[in-house]
Order: sequence, then C-alpha cells, then structure tokens
Amino acid sequence: MYTHIFGPVPSRRLGTSLGVDLTPTKTCSFDCIYCQLSRTTTHTNHRNEFCKADDVLEELRSVLREVEQPDWITLSGTGEPTLHSGLGYILAEIKKMNNAPTCVITNGSLLHLPDVRKELMLADRVLPTLCTVNQSTYEKIHRPVSSVEVLANLEGLRIFTETYSGAIEIEIFVCPEINDTDQEIEGLSNYLASLKNIESIYLNSAVRMPLEKEVKTADQGKLNKFRDKLNLPIPITTAFEHSFVPAKASAWNRPALSSDILKLLLRHPCSKEQLERVFNASSVQIDKLLNELVKNGTIAQEKDGSWALIGQVNG
Ligand code: SF4
Repeated sequence: MYTHIFGPVPSRRLGTSLGVDLTPTKTCSFDCIYCQLSRTTTHTNHRNEFCKADDVLEELRSVLREVEQPDWITLSGTGEPTLHSGLGYILAEIKKMNNAPTCVITNGSLLHLPDVRKELMLADRVLPTLCTVNQSTYEKIHRPVSSVEVLANLEGLRIFTETYSGAIEIEIFVCPEINDTDQEIEGLSNYLASLKNIESIYLNSAVRMPLEKEVKTADQGKLNKFRDKLNLPIPITTAFEHSFVPAKASAWNRPALSSDILKLLLRHPCSKEQLERVFNASSVQIDKLLNELVKNGTIAQEKDGSWALIGQVNG
C-alpha cells in the first residue's frame, strides 16, 4: 500500500493529477478555519525531512509503472509541502523520472525563505494561497504559527513572482464576513495588481465541510461579486466552475483497491463517475469498493452525490 502517493486526482485546473504527500497528516504552519482535514497536529514553520525523500521517489516510480503518464504530478496533500526540507531534491528527481510537469500547492507562508523560493523554481506551476493582506484577518483565517506574519508572506510572494518563470495561480479562499468586505478586497486587489507574472486567480470557498462549522460558504453570486470587486486584468475562476470528469479513462494498470479510493477521498472528495475514470474501473467495480467502505463506516455520500470520508461530509 502506498503512503505518499495518491490519486490520480481529477481536477479541472490540472486535468488528471498524481498527488504526492510529503508530510504526515496534519503538519502545517497554518490551522485554517476552512481546512477540510482535521486540526493541525504538528503546527510548525520549521522545515524537516518528515519522510525520507528517496522513499517518496521510489513509491512514485512504482505508481508511474501502473498509471498512464498523468497530466501533472502535484505536491500537496495533508499538510504544507514546502515544510519538507527535501522539496528541491524531490522536484529535481521527479523531472528525471517522468515528462509530466510538476505543480506545488502551497499556503505560501514559507515564501520569505530564499531556499524555499529557490527550490520552487524547479516546479512548472505553483499555486500559492493568499486570502488577505491584513495581519488580524490572516490570524483569524489561518491561525498561523506565532512567528508567521502576513507581511513576510506578501514580500516572499512578491520576490518569487519577480524571478519565477513558471505559471502562478493564486488561490483566494473566500470566507464570508471575514475577508469579503470592500476594504479587504481592495487591499488584495492593490497587492495583486502590483505583482508580476500571475497567470490566474482561483476563488475557492467552503464547498466541503470546513474545520470550523461557522465558516460560511460564498455561493456563486458572492464569488462573482468578489471577482468583480477585485477588478483585475487576470483570468479569475471559481470553485463552482471546477467540477471535472476526465474525458477518458486513465491507463491505471491494476485493479483499484479500496485503499486507493480511501487515500484519494481523504484529500479530494469525488463522484462515482470520477472514480471510474481515474481508476479505469467499471461502474460495478467501483460500486463494490464504495459499498465495502460504506459498510466499514469510513465514507459517506454528500448531497451533490460525491463521496467523502465520514467527518468531511456536508450533510
Ligand atoms: S487548508 Fe492547507 S494551509 Fe490551511 S491548515 Fe489545511 S492544509 Fe494547512
């Protein structure tokens, strides 16, 4: 059973993406109120080799023998990937083993560190989160480790955008009544307008069960208003425009296991149709595996029909 590799993940932004998790659940410099995972257990901004880089690479080599070349290999998962001290080595080695482009999904809190920026240069695409330019709102939304400050985050991101040659998509998680006031949006807009090399912006919201139940969902109307108020000459998409079923099945070469489904659903709730495509499995096979997991009490179906781990299901 694989520990570090999950997916393939169906994603409109990234097509079919193989996920690489570099931290144990849940190791992060933040403890966001909107997180869809459990509370942060290792709350740190100190980089470490949380798992052996060569073990991760060996697993990835093995999975790549079983699945068609993914559209992307994405470093993300159940914690903050830039906390792994072997990030640069891992990205460089992935380049040697496969032609798929690499992507890093990061909360951006370590971008003030020159080593982190240098290592991220090796990725083809970087998706940093940025929800606010104000320290009090930053603390309210992200509950960062005490030494992490928004100003360092903003400066790190600015320097990174000046030197990075790949594609950058900024993710803004919209929390109604917290970071969607006119003043908040104006601050974000002014800052983002001053950055170079931003390919796109993605407006996310609590479409899944957030960690703190009081976090409200910004519906499509609210996200549209947020987009209008940002008023930036950059493509801006929203979470509700991102449900994605791959056009063709992947070439996953072995029968899918319930453990494969569980690892994927932990990070990314999916519809049955998505599971059929990414695991190249029949409707009957996926039904059987889903039924097993339902009987075990590990997964449940959401209102929109997608499957998620119990505890992450929107009732
Ligand atoms: S949402 Fe991302 S950055 Fe925030 S606590 Fe969860 S894993 Fe960390």
